[in-house]
Amino acid sequence: MVYKTDYHIHSSYSDGRSSPEDYISAAIDAGLSEIGFSDHLNLFTEQEDWIMDPVNISLYLNHIEKLSNSTNNIKIKAGLEVDFYKGREAEILKFLNKLPLDFIIGSVHYQGDKTVDFGPEFYEGKNIDRLYETYFDSVISAISSGLFDIIGHCDLIRIYGFKPASDPEPLYRRMAKAMHKHDVVFEVNTNGRNRPIADFYPDRRFLNIFREEKVPVCVNSDAHMPARVAQYFDEAYDLLRYTGFAEMAVFDKRVRRMISF
Ligand SMILES: [Zn+2]
Ligand SMILES: [Zn+2]
Repeated sequence: MVYKTDYHIHSSYSDGRSSPEDYISAAIDAGLSEIGFSDHLNLFTEQEDWIMDPVNISLYLNHIEKLSNSTNNIKIKAGLEVDFYKGREAEILKFLNKLPLDFIIGSVHYQGDKTVDFGPEFYEGKNIDRLYETYFDSVISAISSGLFDIIGHCDLIRIYGFKPASDPEPLYRRMAKAMHKHDVVFEVNTNGRNRPIADFYPDRRFLNIFREEKVPVCVNSDAHMPARVAQYFDEAYDLLRYTGFAEMAVFDKRVRRMISF
């Protein structure tokens, strides 16, 4: 059996529909060897519904640890999806450093005070080339920060299908080079299929760039409900094999190893 993991799962501790235990049977049915929870943490916004209140972090981690100790047929890992803010690296590090996590996903959702996945109106009337540049710059800063093991949906800026006039390939090349340099994993995030762009992140046209730059990969569903755990994984793994990838990243207490698939 192929070893498969899904490290991007949202439970009701942030904006997922169900409590962590409700995801376990779906993960086993999907043939996963590991499931990792990664609820949203943002240290610098007003508390919003989709983000876990940082005061609940111990409750969340204890919940996952208990669940892990009481479950035999699948490994359960503790992670977070943390919003990155340039210039706030030391504060983020201070918060994360003391936590017993298996992996940390770093994501950029905000540009200014708006999230890029809030609605298409964010893009209307804006220079899309400029938006792409600033979004990729933010992601590259997240990569270079050394705070994260995995970068979440690295081209989320594609979500509503607004396209830049110029070819974005150099941006992907720059991003992939930074990931290699800082030893950060990119995810094929299958949840893009459920969003307006209706395809995975990152753009499959540029997957070969990540392979050429020797960036390690993992496949994640970004599920917000049990039915979407490991959704579209067969297609994602086929796509990676076709592109020439043969190994994926597995994490344990923030130590990475690569296993073949
Ligand atoms: Zn996200
Ligand atoms: Zn997510």
